[in-house]
Amino acid sequence: MRDDPIVWKFGGTSLGNGNRMLLARSLIVDGLRRHRLVVVCSAMGDTTDLLLEMLERASSGEINAAKALLEELRLSHLKAAEKAIEETGVRNEVINFITDRVAELEKLIGSVALLREATPRTKDLITSYGERLSTKIVWGALRSIGINSVYLEGHDAGIATDSNFGNASPLMDLTYDQVRKKVGGLISEGMVPVVTGFIAATPDGITTTLGRGGSDLTATVIAYCIGAKEVWLWTDVDGMMSADPKIVTNSKVLSRISYDEAVEMAYFGAKGLQIKTILPAREKGIHIRIKNTFNPNSEGTLITSTSSPEGTATKAVLMTKKVSSVTVKGEVLAGGGLAAKVLSVIDSHKIDALMISQSVSSSSISIVISRSLSKKVAEEIRKSVISQLGGGEVEVEDDIAAIAVIGEGMKGTPGVASKVFTAVASKGINVRMIAQGSSELNISFVVKEADAEEAVRAVHAAFYGS
Ligand code: ADP
Ligand code: ASP
Ligand code: MG
Repeated sequence: MRDDPIVWKFGGTSLGNGNRMLLARSLIVDGLRRHRLVVVCSAMGDTTDLLLEMLERASSGEINAAKALLEELRLSHLKAAEKAIEETGVRNEVINFITDRVAELEKLIGSVALLREATPRTKDLITSYGERLSTKIVWGALRSIGINSVYLEGHDAGIATDSNFGNASPLMDLTYDQVRKKVGGLISEGMVPVVTGFIAATPDGITTTLGRGGSDLTATVIAYCIGAKEVWLWTDVDGMMSADPKIVTNSKVLSRISYDEAVEMAYFGAKGLQIKTILPAREKGIHIRIKNTFNPNSEGTLITSTSSPEGTATKAVLMTKKVSSVTVKGEVLAGGGLAAKVLSVIDSHKIDALMISQSVSSSSISIVISRSLSKKVAEEIRKSVISQLGGGEVEVEDDIAAIAVIGEGMKGTPGVASKVFTAVASKGINVRMIAQGSSELNISFVVKEADAEEAVRAVHAAFYGS
């Protein structure tokens, strides 16, 4: 067995029911023959969505609908526990755990229904139950066959975050010391830590979550802290693909991509990967492997410091609909300063702009940002830029999608942009905004939301064939 530990994270689909948990367990048993492992678990299947729906129902006073969802959640977890845990004592312990957690949830949704509101802090507490339940079952499945698994919630493992509920970030200095001591300590005693993904807590113990898809971040943060050289993200596809396989049927698995390409891909929603996930790995050169739980013999994708050419200048064509464009026109400001003022609003709210494009005359600037923030940002710009400078207008467009063509190989390869836009034009699709990253790793553009999938297929076909 190799001494350096590896962190393995299983996604929601990979833990979607008791049988899948058994499949994950057999992979873990096999992995433990070769490595020390830390296991990180997502919530089962769509549990996080179900919890959010339950919260929504409760906060609009529909307590019976909320309770029906809770019952669905209780039954699916009990069924999974019955299936995945053979040993009676362990199984009963897990069933009691599920019963206790469901009782807590029932009280929580009762309070939300009375108050008719759920703060971000309450939302984090409620969504944390998905990972707590699934991870306890995986812990039990391992214990049941004599593996020294230890159940840890994110904060027990040592992950401390800021209090940005819903999208908290680890406080790395504190987290580093705590995780190294706790998780590192358990590993050196021969234990197998089984850790809830997605959830953590502030230093004073208030539950936080790391944002949707945050279990991947739990995995890379733990790897960073314990000095692991690799993180494996076990999921339901063969790896990072040249396009979302749900949109492009002949998308290809990318055998190796660079951290920088992965960051660009994450911006555009590939594999629900968060950008934050890549950063700890990039900093320490930790290899990330994406592997398919349902096809473990396939090589998967390796994310590392260098890319492989894959035969084409572009690697991937990605699309996100979760964005809006905000255009600020400020004729009266001509002579400078509009872009700086708009960007400082974005900056002060710590918002990532996916694209920025400015007209030659400097009298208008468009930014593409997360749709959930567009109204708030527009309002802020009206307040702090337009009103202060006495003119101009702000326009928000929600029915758009941003598409990105990504690949290190585009650097210095002429003709990529013309190939992209010829492909889009050949379908009669109108391009509304274009931007190219200064890294030359990415060409991105905006189309109407209704045209987005066809545009992705057209561009993908131009590089990979149809
Ligand atoms: P997990 O629950 O394992 O974290 P996710 O659902 O977060 O998995 O991510 C996997 C899904 O991401 C796939 O089922 C696939 O449909 C989607 N996806 C979108 N774009 C890509 C891409 N470029 N490569 C791979 N998967 C992608
Ligand atoms: N369960 C969380 C989500 O659905 C975290 C994750 O799966 O990574 O977003
Ligand atoms: Mg995910």
